[in-house]
Amino acid sequence: MNFYKDHYDVIVVGGALAGLSAALQLADKGKDVLVLERHNLPGGVATSFVRGGIEIEAALHEMMYIGAKDNRQKVGVFFDQLGIDIDWLRVPEAYHASLPGLEVTLHPGMEQFSREVDAAVPGTYEKVKRLMDLCATVYDSVNELSIHPMSKPQMLLKHAAFVKTAGYSTKEVLDTFDLPQKALDLIAPYWIYVGSGFSDLPFTIYAVLMGEYIGNGSYIPRKFSHEMSLKMAEKAEEMGVQIEYRQHVDKILVKDGQACGVRTARGDEISADYVICSAYPNKVYTSMIEPAEAVPAGAIKMVNGRRISLTAFSVILILDKPAEELNIKDYSIFRGTTMDTDKIYDELKGLGPYSYLTCICHNYGNPDATPEGTCSFSITVLPRVDGWKTVTADEYDRVKHQVAKQLIDDMSAYFGVNLLDHVLEIVIETPMTVAHYTGMWNGCIYGYAHTMEDHIVARLQTEEEEKFIGHLEFSGAHQISGDGMGPAVVNGRKAAKNVLDTMAKEAQ
Ligand SMILES: Cc1cc2nc3c(=O)[nH]c(=O)nc-3n(C[C@H](O)[C@H](O)[C@H](O)COP(=O)(O)OP(=O)(O)OC[C@H]3O[C@@H](n4cnc5c(N)ncnc54)[C@H](O)[C@@H]3O)c2cc1C
Repeated sequence: MNFYKDHYDVIVVGGALAGLSAALQLADKGKDVLVLERHNLPGGVATSFVRGGIEIEAALHEMMYIGAKDNRQKVGVFFDQLGIDIDWLRVPEAYHASLPGLEVTLHPGMEQFSREVDAAVPGTYEKVKRLMDLCATVYDSVNELSIHPMSKPQMLLKHAAFVKTAGYSTKEVLDTFDLPQKALDLIAPYWIYVGSGFSDLPFTIYAVLMGEYIGNGSYIPRKFSHEMSLKMAEKAEEMGVQIEYRQHVDKILVKDGQACGVRTARGDEISADYVICSAYPNKVYTSMIEPAEAVPAGAIKMVNGRRISLTAFSVILILDKPAEELNIKDYSIFRGTTMDTDKIYDELKGLGPYSYLTCICHNYGNPDATPEGTCSFSITVLPRVDGWKTVTADEYDRVKHQVAKQLIDDMSAYFGVNLLDHVLEIVIETPMTVAHYTGMWNGCIYGYAHTMEDHIVARLQTEEEEKFIGHLEFSGAHQISGDGMGPAVVNGRKAAKNVLDTMAKEAQ
């Protein structure tokens, strides 16, 4: 049975956050859209699963760009405007930083955050507040410039702080504040969410991170990230989008330099004016374009020239006692033996032991996350893909259990409680799990690394040159807004906007 129409305006490959956002945006403008998702449910890693009768969040620690009900940020606004009613819970704290000689819990809100750093490292309030204000200003500029690009002279007038700091690394800008090391350690932990050490991380990216997470706080859906994926898919279908599950797209068909449809693994050829693809450009340009000769050499150079960013290794535990009884006191813990981000980045190229861990106890953000008397606690490291690419099938099981054991032992020692004595359920997600489940290139969840040589400002300038095949757009962590669930929504909308702009231009 063929359940497809003869032709669509747009085919979206991948029904996760980025793909669904693109579909929603296009349907909102009356376009005829088909979403093809290889799994039997939407969301990609924004999902949950059940073990021993308990629903478990697969990925989400905290989400950016939502904002409070009376101060919605761009993704929150998008959902509200489309009537996608998600029960958002505000994450109660920014994080607890646990470093040698430092045990400090910090909260969102620039003023409160600066006061709390000052309480831990007296005499730093003025400098930290000035730094946070700079982050907020740069963040506002990035938000405005991403919607209203302007000439350089205009930018100099209106966005001086952005222009002044844009060419500098986070380390270079932080150095100008002359903060004591302990204060620097306290304001650093979120760096891992963007995956480059401070010497190589453009300050603009750090400013966006702090502007959003500290300025506006972060959120989680009450019924896990699956609530968001499911409601987006339901709304898309309500708006006329056709979503077909269990349909793996093998090939993107190209004619006269333009995408014109796809072929699925079961052999259906489906025609469309445009294709939006969630798979990494690395995968698309090396094995998905038909005919292969339609891939220009520049496309291969581009993907080879980019550095693939971080992947994820996560141990998720469901424990048999409430969190307080196990000495777990915070929603989010960043724990390390050092906060030297460059050093940690170097360590992440291997297979452990890993010293920088990020832990989440969902019950502190969502008291109903697990049945009464139990709690959920996850320990995550975000390694580079390099080490994990070398693991053979024979070694996989041993390496997986060795790394998981190290993470559990480290956190057990920290809490003074052997977590293994309290396990009801244990799930280990590795880079291989991510790669198999979503098809992400090398299991990378972060797209292309933000570096001083290849950063968002430069990428914006080469964006047009990097459209190697007409009528083909990409959406996902590998695109301009980068990694994470909030950015995935922004990237999906951007891909849809590019399609709508091209449609309008070609109609003239
Ligand atoms: C352990 C872990 C923790 C994380 N924590 C956070 C967090 O706290 N906050 C945050 O914001 N982000 C977090 N992330 C990252 C975030 O989940 C992702 O960046 C985001 O969900 C990516 O969404 P996406 O739509 O780009 O792609 P994906 O979720 O990768 O989805 C791609 C989709 O495309 C489908 N697909 C791929 N190829 C094909 C094909 N050929 N045919 C058909 N379908 C195809 C896949 O099945 C999948 O559904 C985490 C990720 C992991 C793994």
